[in-house]
Amino acid sequence: MNSEFKLVLYPVDSGLEIDLDNLRKHLDSLALLGAELVDLLGADHYTVGDKFLSYFTFMGCSPDIELEPQTDKPFCYLALESFLQPQFVLGSNVKKARCTSCKHDLQEITNSLNCSHCDKPLQLDKINWRKSAFIAKTWISIGNIYELEAIPNDELLDSLKRLTSVQWKPAYIRNAKLIEV
Ligand SMILES: [Zn+2]
Repeated sequence: MNSEFKLVLYPVDSGLEIDLDNLRKHLDSLALLGAELVDLLGADHYTVGDKFLSYFTFMGCSPDIELEPQTDKPFCYLALESFLQPQFVLGSNVKKARCTSCKHDLQEITNSLNCSHCDKPLQLDKINWRKSAFIAKTWISIGNIYELEAIPNDELLDSLKRLTSVQWKPAYIRNAKLIEV
């Protein structure tokens, strides 16, 4: 089943177009992708590949990570998500952040994406969301990873940077909400 807890890897250039075939081949060459889970989760969802565990540092003493597909309980999977327009993605776990114009704490973030205090458009890519929101056209989701449970290592992030010429960062998103910008 699709998990409400996700670790997301995204490029910091929100307008970056990424060819999904190239990204798929790249992740395949890293042995990060397993079989596609069309029937279970839909297109562009994959089981984790043989080397999945070597690209992440798992926190906690005995992480309980289910790597095999299950029909009745959550398990780890990879998903490639891509949109024609940049999406602002935030979770129900979004951290307190401040408007860069008026410095007030952001209260509710509505679809207008304007500050509820000064009504100026939020500068989404300038605000420090502390790994709880991001803006991108294409990203990689890893399902069933809790907040800070796993941290991607430099080998993985550097290889994505070599592929796209843009730095990649992690975010932890619970119950993702997408707002087109
Ligand atoms: Zn403001």
